[in-house]
Amino acid sequence: MPDFTEKTVNFYTGGLDRAAHLRKDEAWLAARLTHPSSRFVPVWRGQNLIAGGASAEPRAVLLTRDALAAVAAESETVLLGVHEDRAYFACDLSPLETPQEAIRAELAAEFVDLRRVGPLLPRGEGSLLAFARGLAYWHSRHRFCGVCGSPTKPEEAGHVRRCTNEDCNAPHFPRTDPAVIMLVHDGERCLLGRQKTWPQGMHSTLAGFVEPGESLEEAVAREVFEETKVTLDRITYHSSQPWPFPASLMLGFHASARSTVIEVDHSELEDARWYEKSWLLTHQDDEQFRLPRRDSIARRLLEDWLGR
Ligand SMILES: [Zn+2]
Repeated sequence: MPDFTEKTVNFYTGGLDRAAHLRKDEAWLAARLTHPSSRFVPVWRGQNLIAGGASAEPRAVLLTRDALAAVAAESETVLLGVHEDRAYFACDLSPLETPQEAIRAELAAEFVDLRRVGPLLPRGEGSLLAFARGLAYWHSRHRFCGVCGSPTKPEEAGHVRRCTNEDCNAPHFPRTDPAVIMLVHDGERCLLGRQKTWPQGMHSTLAGFVEPGESLEEAVAREVFEETKVTLDRITYHSSQPWPFPASLMLGFHASARSTVIEVDHSELEDARWYEKSWLLTHQDDEQFRLPRRDSIARRLLEDWLGR
């Protein structure tokens, strides 16, 4: 198991050497795919394999080659990277109806949504599982060529899919969808909203997808204006976070408000208000108001603004 001890800014990032230079090295890949030291990160229908999922200390469960072979005679694998001379691969077990039965008996583990246990996992494990989940999702959605409709097949250890129609031959690369997420403030207050579908009481920063032909700063200003009619003055980049649920890259910003009158677009938000810094610093999460989840960049943007 990778032990990425360095503290990364955000959850689900960091640590693994992605070893891109080895993705085309067929001999190295073949040797590592059968090597006893290699580890396979199973993904099943968007879920990751976790032991102690209901406990305070869940752990990622990785499979040896033999353990993988016992569950699936064949599975598509993708090289994730190398850490301390050990190769890590993702393997998608989604075609199997009930892989968890064999695995649960052997390893006392089950497939769960990474978000259920993410904040409690060691950071390195969380980032490895998120990477595996993101790539498995991309592969599952790119089995056919978007140019001519023919089947595609993986190349370069799973980091490319190429069209099998020789006249087309188009390569397709893993995609991630950029989304901006912003903590808007006016000095002593910040703007938080909530969507109907969120857990009860949860409030968070505003966010939205970047559109083609748009800069990140434009996307920040547009999303905030669309959702609340608040206009912005100064937009500064904070940090980013992969959010493979299913395929986003969150680009975090702090922004100061030029106007502060809120007019909520109820098709997007249930509510949006200004919250005093002093109130946020003393409030304990309850049914009426709770902060965003601890593994989210939204929480990080907020905590940094609060200075804690
Ligand atoms: Zn094609």
